[in-house]
Amino acid sequence: MTADLTSATSELLRHVRETVEANERWRAQTLNLIASENVLSPAARSVLDSDFQHRYAEGHPGGRYYEGTQYLDEIERLSREVMQRIFRVTWADVRPISGTVANEAVFSRLVPQGATAIAHTVATGGHISHARIGSLGKRTKNILEWPMSADGYSIDVDAARDLIHKEQPAIAVLGRSLFLFPEPVAELAAVCAETGTRLFYDGAHVLGLIAAGTFQDPLHEGADILCGSTHKTFFGPQRGMVLTTGQDEKLNNTLDKGVFPGSSSNHHLFSLPALLVSALEVESFGQDYARATIANAQALGAALAAKGFAVACPERGYSESHQVAVDVEPFGGGKKASARLCEQDIICNMNLLPGEPGKRAFDPKGIRLGVQEMTRFGMGPDEMEAMADLMHGALSGDRDVRSEVAALRARFPEVRYAYSVSDLQ
Ligand SMILES: *Cc1c(COP(=O)(O)O)cnc(C)c1O
Repeated sequence: MTADLTSATSELLRHVRETVEANERWRAQTLNLIASENVLSPAARSVLDSDFQHRYAEGHPGGRYYEGTQYLDEIERLSREVMQRIFRVTWADVRPISGTVANEAVFSRLVPQGATAIAHTVATGGHISHARIGSLGKRTKNILEWPMSADGYSIDVDAARDLIHKEQPAIAVLGRSLFLFPEPVAELAAVCAETGTRLFYDGAHVLGLIAAGTFQDPLHEGADILCGSTHKTFFGPQRGMVLTTGQDEKLNNTLDKGVFPGSSSNHHLFSLPALLVSALEVESFGQDYARATIANAQALGAALAAKGFAVACPERGYSESHQVAVDVEPFGGGKKASARLCEQDIICNMNLLPGEPGKRAFDPKGIRLGVQEMTRFGMGPDEMEAMADLMHGALSGDRDVRSEVAALRARFPEVRYAYSVSDLQ
């Protein structure tokens, strides 16, 4: 039955569909370098839209508050099992609906009101959920900053040990949004054990690299808790996770209550089957993917430097993750440069760089580039070089590179490191 719509409503309905389709078309001709994003495989997408969209499942498989959850129970049990296998642990909570919600579950239970915490500032790569105005800030304003190396991209381990010793914080937060090199987890674990500090690793960005064993292994290096987003380098749907080694039962129970009822009720059940498919893809293809991603980041860093860009950390090989950071002050700063690149269908974000005051967040020096999505479409070092040339063309002159961008992108239409839809038949 077709409803009797006013012309304004039917116009609006058409507009909704057209806007969704316009984004799909435009995205397919762009180079996306937003470091926190990725794409699902068609196989994962094929189980995204289902009756689970309509349902609730509070609690755990086998211990729900509502009836009717037996099929979701099966999916959630398997998701937990596969995640535990991938991360080589015996405790994983797959219910948080995003990385921030996972962090909230941890902070709300492990940080007493007004307690001392240590975290990165936004300029040294910290996430807004670690800041006074974010999730951690709801528990305490007493957030100390990690002492940093001269280049600003690594923690100064000796100074950090001294700070933990002196301040005895309740929680020490590692992990970042601008995240080029591994954190000194093993180096800080012993002092944290001495002072009773919970060592918390926010692996939102690098979760896929951690899964592959190509970046670092926080829980086995001595972190108490690992949180992450499941849609950045871990190329699943938009959700979050909390993991521990599983050995500390009291900690597991505390975190469990932080997730539910602490920070969720329904947990967006529709996307859990897609997470399970994506996790199996990470298990099958994740190592090749993570290696290719890191090699591409290094290749992009080198290619941009060869074009004259001020890429961060040249003497350290630019990056050991999926990201590179570039100081684009000569091109008018991060805001202007990222806007110009987007006009030219190259999408990235402006970013504070180490040493910049937080108040420059809306007009920082830098841009942050992530190669994880283009790597998932199968791009390699040659394409990184081509990309650097296009960025240089777009930023250093009036060269209109949109058709070149579209031509490059068109050669990589398919999601790789993935199952096909028929694999689910
Ligand atoms: C992206 C990010 C998050 C937040 O993840 P969401 O899934 O978007 O909520 C948390 N921590 C860090 C370090 C991040 O970069």
